[in-house]
Amino acid sequence: MRGPLLIAIDGPAASGKGTLGRRLAAHFGLPHLDTGLLYRAVGWAAERTGRPPAELAATLRAADLANPELRTDAAGQAASRVSAIPEVRANLLKFQKDFAYQPSGAVLDGRDIGTVICPDAPVKLYVSASLEARADRRYRELRAQGADTIKPRVLAEMAERDRRDSERAAAPLKAAPDAYLLDTSDMDADAAFAAALAFIEGKGFRSAGP
Ligand code: C5P
Repeated sequence: MRGPLLIAIDGPAASGKGTLGRRLAAHFGLPHLDTGLLYRAVGWAAERTGRPPAELAATLRAADLANPELRTDAAGQAASRVSAIPEVRANLLKFQKDFAYQPSGAVLDGRDIGTVICPDAPVKLYVSASLEARADRRYRELRAQGADTIKPRVLAEMAERDRRDSERAAAPLKAAPDAYLLDTSDMDADAAFAAALAFIEGKGFRSAGP
């Protein structure tokens, strides 16, 4: 008999991991945590208040994650800076582990879920895509939101965030050795979902729904 279904999803910005996480959570009836929001909330509050990021991480509450400003690229850059601080990561650990190890099971997406937060997750996915494909997606998203930006700038900012996230000493972005690698450069959201679902069902997990 299998234990609860815990799905750990990692990957760089705009790889499609968030969309995939939401869809898998809906399919299996599991709660979903976008862990990038935790770092965004800390980075955003640190910039606005000047308070130490580690202290903000220690006192973070679920309600803080609802702020729509956390979705902006500025918040993503602020997140990427505070996320390199080991005390920030340590202070966000319990929040993430409590979410992951609920009796229902859970889906978490981020950068270190399969490597640090849930190294024993029965399902680990590493979602990636070329820098160009990811920058193109983000550029289209920003334009659809009415943002005034140019593609080379989006690409440069994404490359900078990739570099910071992969080169930092504390829990750098990398695939767990036992993760299923999903390159979405030439896939739409439906194809990525179908591939991930086939992998998960291959491990013996099925949706409880109709
Ligand atoms: O995924 P998202 O773009 O929201 O993440 C924002 C930033 O938060 C990332 O660039 C990364 O620096 C940081 N992050 C992290 N560990 C996670 C999730 C996000 O370091 N588990």
